[in-house]
Amino acid sequence: HFEGEKIDDDLVSAVSRIMAHADGARRLRVRANSDTPEDSARARRFGAQGIGLCRTEHMFLGDRRELVERLIVAEDEATQEQALAALLPLQRQDFAEIFEAMDGLPVTIRLIDPPLHEFLPDLTELSVKVALEEERGEGSERDRVLLQHVRRLHEQNPMLGLRGVRLGIQIPGLFEMQARAILEAAADYTAAGGRPLPEIMIPLVASVRELDVVKGTILGVAEEVQADRGVRLDFSVGTMIELPRAAFLADRIAGSADFFSFGTNDLTQMAWGFSRDDVEAAFFSRYFDHGIFDVSPFESLDQLGVGGMVEMGTTKGRATKPNLKVGVCGEHGGDPRSIHFFDDVGLDYVSCSPFRVPVARLEAGRSVLAQRGASRTGG
Ligand code: PEP
Ligand code: MG
Repeated sequence: HFEGEKIDDDLVSAVSRIMAHADGARRLRVRANSDTPEDSARARRFGAQGIGLCRTEHMFLGDRRELVERLIVAEDEATQEQALAALLPLQRQDFAEIFEAMDGLPVTIRLIDPPLHEFLPDLTELSVKVALEEERGEGSERDRVLLQHVRRLHEQNPMLGLRGVRLGIQIPGLFEMQARAILEAAADYTAAGGRPLPEIMIPLVASVRELDVVKGTILGVAEEVQADRGVRLDFSVGTMIELPRAAFLADRIAGSADFFSFGTNDLTQMAWGFSRDDVEAAFFSRYFDHGIFDVSPFESLDQLGVGGMVEMGTTKGRATKPNLKVGVCGEHGGDPRSIHFFDDVGLDYVSCSPFRVPVARLEAGRSVLAQRGASRTGG
């Protein structure tokens, strides 16, 4: 409720009864997407049963952006190591705070998945700046060198470029630093009597081999951290399923993953070939007029196409690992219509923004009641 606002006690008790009814009925668990301790605490107050997606790239904005920029453009190991050494304690603190906020509940931490352009200066702006500086005879060496790197790394389609697992393979120290920060924070918290449950998640995986390469690094770090700190950690390593290829190969990928989380934002983008950065695409209104769809597939799950891949990926994954934990963490995880679909195909949980958690709990309950109603009337 809003601070200072008087809320009718009868209303509070009616809402509590409805929520208790929904929670008693639902099968689907509800988690939240959060990358700060504040949001995590809020999610918990709203009834989230864990964090389903902690987007770590959000932790690298502000003051830390420059360190990431240095790491990405560096071609020598010494510069990379310096940047990573500076980032490690900051990340350890980030994760420690989230574990504390979510004590005893699972926290899925996704390794960094930045579209590169968000961490590099804009090529055109930097080119103009350097050209103007040179004209005035006052060009800085730093800007000139940076421009060379930005040109070298420039991508026409950053959303199809050096993102997610690809960046982790290109700069192995980056994922290693994050895994170390997560596991050290978990070890320290365990030693202090806490119950952290980290689930380390790899983004944008398309092949088993990609996953295996990164997983090998994480497991190596886990051995070191557990030996150094003298604790055993309860952690798992899983993958996002957000590329059509991953959904098709889910039976193979499941062999190397402890869990799956469907990223329906990217999966929608890749399945339809619509840019998720232009969700209000100029042609969508014509699509509505012609009934090609009645709601944007980014807003509510395209159940036939994208949903078909979610269902197929789940079935294939569980054919390899019958108890494979499967969730969804794209925006659709908080959309009422999509939640019914996710329940019907047997996902274990949905994850959505903290403010949508109560609605997701309610819909997950309504979905079970709808299924019961359908079976009573013969469907
Ligand atoms: C997704 O693609 O659905 C997802 C959850 O990841 P992101 O939105 O961060 O790409
Ligand atoms: Mg994604």
